[in-house]
Amino acid sequence: MDVGSEVRFRHFVYMKHDIVIVGGGVPGLTLALALAQSTSLSVAVLEARDCVRLFKRDARVSAITQASKRIFKKLGVWSAIHAQAIQSFTRIECWDEAGNEIDFHCETLAMSALGYIVENQAIQFVLQEALQSYCTAQIFYSTKLIALHEKEDAIMLSTDTGQVFHAKLVVAADGAMSFVRERAQIILDKKDYNEEAIVATITTTAMHEQIARQCFLKTGPVALLPLSDSYRTSLVWTLPTAEAKQYMDLKPDDFCKALTCVFSKRFSEVVVVEGRQSFRLCKQQAQQCVKPRIALLGDALHTVHPLAGQGMNMGLLDAAALFEIIHTAIAHHRDFGSHAVLRRYARWRKADNFPMSVGIDWIKQLFAANTPVISLVRVSGLQILNRFPTIKNYFARYAVGERNGLPKLAQ
Ligand SMILES: Cc1cc2nc3c(=O)[nH]c(=O)nc-3n(C[C@H](O)[C@H](O)[C@H](O)COP(=O)(O)OP(=O)(O)OC[C@H]3O[C@@H](n4cnc5c(N)ncnc54)[C@H](O)[C@@H]3O)c2cc1C
Repeated sequence: MDVGSEVRFRHFVYMKHDIVIVGGGVPGLTLALALAQSTSLSVAVLEARDCVRLFKRDARVSAITQASKRIFKKLGVWSAIHAQAIQSFTRIECWDEAGNEIDFHCETLAMSALGYIVENQAIQFVLQEALQSYCTAQIFYSTKLIALHEKEDAIMLSTDTGQVFHAKLVVAADGAMSFVRERAQIILDKKDYNEEAIVATITTTAMHEQIARQCFLKTGPVALLPLSDSYRTSLVWTLPTAEAKQYMDLKPDDFCKALTCVFSKRFSEVVVVEGRQSFRLCKQQAQQCVKPRIALLGDALHTVHPLAGQGMNMGLLDAAALFEIIHTAIAHHRDFGSHAVLRRYARWRKADNFPMSVGIDWIKQLFAANTPVISLVRVSGLQILNRFPTIKNYFARYAVGERNGLPKLAQ
């Protein structure tokens, strides 16, 4: 049977592909597009949900780094993403309740923007559309993986639609609750923060002026990310689980008043809140990134606290690195699904993901704890960063994706 071919048996459809990507979130689709553009491999993306329809707007946005922008630019989709609602931010202001503060400006880093706020759905939509141009790649919507069987030279996958897929490599891009990771018996290290993030779109009386703002309260950080309308921002408010439930139940006016208390001194009054959703927060790390014929990426591999806006960016770098490893393996006539090849991807991403997720967790602990010693460390740390711009700029450049060892697509 030819690669990518389909055979109908009495009860199910059997399909053979080179690569099956389980999960059509942004990192999974990015990998599919890179493979479709630069290889002749047949690629299937299995996505449990229906395709994205932009008339059903979702409040979830992501802060995209310069490195992620370069990936989208090289794949030729940045202008289409830009045509959707996008807002650059040129400054980040952070402060805590005691009045300690730190800020970052794009001019001091010699950049036009520190990053971009993009609706997750808008990126997914553009990637789904772009993939339609390639006959070697196909997205199977409303198709949920329900069984996985590992063989020596391939993986068999069954879906709730009665299809059976046969792949030389399976990519787990199926998010934090990854079915592939669980069925492949990959152990997960998990730390529950016992917190939830309330996400919503808010309207303020003052213009956001392209500034991303973050206030570190004792209960957790509250972030405001500027949207394309100058008076609208995206809210990510982290709270202990019980308090988050109370705030979710507040009437819109009372919710706005509570937010105004946080931001009025530094920014503005909050007058409208729309599309409140809450997300349970935890730090997760899979103990193995790869197994023979299986590779994990994105939230299936790691989840981090959203305070630094890095989860999606880390997933995009995973996708770009895995693409490069597969591409190189093909050029050298090597089996791209073999453990030896995939281990290179694992080592590469561990070296980049590990310091990032540990660093985010440290920041989280540093601002959460209120013991005198940790408060002193926090204040001294901020003072050092403010007094030594070289150190501050080094960390800022690192966070926005200006660092060594990135995959070619992100350079
Ligand atoms: C409140 C909040 C704010 C955030 N803000 C930012 C930010 O500003 N910047 C940033 O970089 N990151 C941010 N993140 C993180 C970012 O949203 C995630 O890292 C990113 O969405 C992960 O993408 P993913 O594709 O790996 O997982 P997901 O987005 O969860 O996608 C997984 C996909 O797999 C599909 N799927 C699951 N199981 C199956 C199955 N069995 N069969 C078929 N399909 C399946 C799902 O339907 C889904 O489409 C934030 C996260 C949260 C919670």
